[in-house]
Amino acid sequence: MGLLVVGSIGLDDIQTPFDKIENALGGSTTYISLAASYFTAPVSIVGVVGDDFSKNHIQMLEDHHIDIEGLQIIEGGKTFRYGCKYNYDLNNRESLFTHLNVFEKFNPIIPEKNKKDKFVLLGNIAPQLQMNVLDQLNEPRFIVCDTMNFWIDGAFDDLMKVLKRVHVLIINDSEARLLSKEPNLIKAAKIITDMGPKYLIIKKGEHGALLFGDNTIFSAPAYPMENIYDPTGAGDAFAGGFTGYLHKNLELSFDNMKRAVIYGSIMASFCVEKFSTKGLENLSWLEIKNRFIEFQNLSSFD
Ligand code: AMP
Repeated sequence: MGLLVVGSIGLDDIQTPFDKIENALGGSTTYISLAASYFTAPVSIVGVVGDDFSKNHIQMLEDHHIDIEGLQIIEGGKTFRYGCKYNYDLNNRESLFTHLNVFEKFNPIIPEKNKKDKFVLLGNIAPQLQMNVLDQLNEPRFIVCDTMNFWIDGAFDDLMKVLKRVHVLIINDSEARLLSKEPNLIKAAKIITDMGPKYLIIKKGEHGALLFGDNTIFSAPAYPMENIYDPTGAGDAFAGGFTGYLHKNLELSFDNMKRAVIYGSIMASFCVEKFSTKGLENLSWLEIKNRFIEFQNLSSFD
């Protein structure tokens, strides 16, 4: 019983006040699956790239024991490309371009062996495609979903249909306000969980994350970071760490979800320390565990 991840795989051009990089590995599925791979196996991905996508990237994913049977490589096609720029406020980015390329006609085809996967993480893609994925699956037990402003504004009705079927929605604070049309996050959470998801996670960038569900709220601290080089993929790394941890021990209690939120925050913190996916490529379990202890020390008091 594996963890299935569906979303974008692409090449990013990223500018920050410290550096810039072109043609770097990116995409929601990439960050999610790398982060999850430190906790559990098999992690299977479904996505699409063109034949310009480097074999080294595919090898790197395979080196993390990520199953790529569901990766479609389109002959003569160009890989999805995204460009963005950050100023000193690294919480906000300006998108410079989005070239959908082969992603425009993406039709997620779930390999036969993955139709029975019980854990599914729907990365940030069109709600219609997320629905298409769910329709191909055989009663998944736990569905985690990400989305963004673009779909809340542009595909609200489809998104509502998806939300009725998912167990956890992970969004950031501005998306929560937009989705609920409510400025107060506590009230917003009530409105959003009434839309379907049993649990809601609201990420607040450098201010941590909130987990809502079971009539309880858990407030996770943010890891105090001195060196943030590239925030791209932090949200996806969070989702991958959160879901990967839950898939590892298959326990879906609120207490275990609290731990999963911390592991999500840990993977996001590693992600932003280096450009592109580099911060997630060479971690050891000891580094992850040590950061968990740092998180515990950060906010424990009598
Ligand atoms: P995050 O920083 O967690 O929002 O994720 C960043 C990744 O999302 C980048 O690596 C991009 O390649 C990818 N991305 C950006 N825009 C889109 C989009 N419209 N659809 C799918 N993936 C995208």
